[in-house]
Amino acid sequence: MKSINTEVVICGGGLSGLICSLALSNIGISSFCIDKSTNIKKKQIDTRSTAYLRPSKEFLENIGVWKHLSKNANPLKTLSIVNSSSGFPYNNIISETKFNAIEIFQNEFGWNINNNQTKKILLELVEKDKMINFEYDEIINIKEFDEKLTIYLKNKKQINTKLLIGADGRNSFIRKNYNINADIDSLDQKAITFLIKHEYMHTDISYEIYKTGGPFTTVPLKNDKVNTSAVVWVDNKNNIEKLLKLNKKEFNKEVNKRSVNKLGDISVISELEIFPVTTQIADKLVDHRMILIGEAAHALPPIGAQGLNLTIKDIKEIYDLCKKNPIGIGDGEMVSKFNIKRLIDIKIRSKSVNILNKLSESNQLVISKTRDFGLNFLAKVQPVKYLLMKFGLG
Ligand SMILES: Cc1cc2nc3c(=O)[nH]c(=O)nc-3n(C[C@H](O)[C@H](O)[C@H](O)COP(=O)(O)OP(=O)(O)OC[C@H]3O[C@@H](n4cnc5c(N)ncnc54)[C@H](O)[C@@H]3O)c2cc1C
Repeated sequence: MKSINTEVVICGGGLSGLICSLALSNIGISSFCIDKSTNIKKKQIDTRSTAYLRPSKEFLENIGVWKHLSKNANPLKTLSIVNSSSGFPYNNIISETKFNAIEIFQNEFGWNINNNQTKKILLELVEKDKMINFEYDEIINIKEFDEKLTIYLKNKKQINTKLLIGADGRNSFIRKNYNINADIDSLDQKAITFLIKHEYMHTDISYEIYKTGGPFTTVPLKNDKVNTSAVVWVDNKNNIEKLLKLNKKEFNKEVNKRSVNKLGDISVISELEIFPVTTQIADKLVDHRMILIGEAAHALPPIGAQGLNLTIKDIKEIYDLCKKNPIGIGDGEMVSKFNIKRLIDIKIRSKSVNILNKLSESNQLVISKTRDFGLNFLAKVQPVKYLLMKFGLG
């Protein structure tokens, strides 16, 4: 059996694991990143996009990654929240409240990039990086010692490391292996994601259109030739199942109705992907020489662009702790500092996302009115609007 020594092992080569390995490399820390899918490069269907908020962008700039991603980034300058009526006539806009980045003295709230494009670039960077060893493999056993862990891989490799980072997604093998419970709040909703081209220019606006069951959100994408946006359509499970039974033409028609003509005539230009809408937070984020990050630690409903932005905060915390005390990588002090700092922030963010989601989900008149009242209130009381926008930006 081949034996390898590395400072950090990262289980999971999704966006979380790839960004983490590049961040560690930036401060001279070697890592071994393992992904169990046979070849991530071939698995090119991810219709999601990520809105990178300012702190995330700044961190990615610091570690030298943003310059590679920025060519695909579309600024998000305005968030427009549209309340629409659920019955006939369709396309009836009840109210529209705009949040402009300029109101908080910024040019933009964030930058939106399609996940496929990001993953491709991150993988290229990882493959070129001498501090990172990336392999398609699977962990089959972990042995714990005071000063290290020994990790056994399916393809008969054995790795000695100071720290294991679990970045293996919402069904994390690492989390389960350490018997860490994750509280799952399963909502009666699902999300469909897809890409659209549209008649009108998006003018850097993201529309969050409310009716019943959840928001229909369009997020502007960069494309010099046609007007394109990514869509996240959250609705109750029954409605989503009905939508999935439609043929392409019928589905397109529903998309045009649901978007209340904000972007003109719309055509769906990608496959549809389905995601669960759950809140899932691990009871603790660490164990002996082990840290959970990304969806292995926290999966949130796709509202308010918090998911990967929270992960980038996890990675920044690991980066700061390693940079401050490289000798202490993975020791008890490091992992407990991480746990205390990150768990509080994650819980606060997940509570606020859940409240927003509850407001978006209900079709009751009273909730719809509350949403309208709340939005009108925010639109008029500038300091409250300012604080809320600042909080939302992490
Ligand atoms: C509809 C939707 C929209 C979103 N929009 C935003 C947004 O605008 N902004 C934002 O910040 N976040 C957003 N998010 C959240 C964001 O997409 C996720 O947080 C992020 O993609 C999760 O990345 P991850 O690397 O943690 O997990 P995954 O992408 O699930 O990656 C996990 C990786 O681990 C590998 N793996 C699994 N098990 C093992 C194992 N046993 N051994 C080795 N490898 C393993 C998998 O093959 C996979 O490559 C959204 C999420 C959804 C569902």
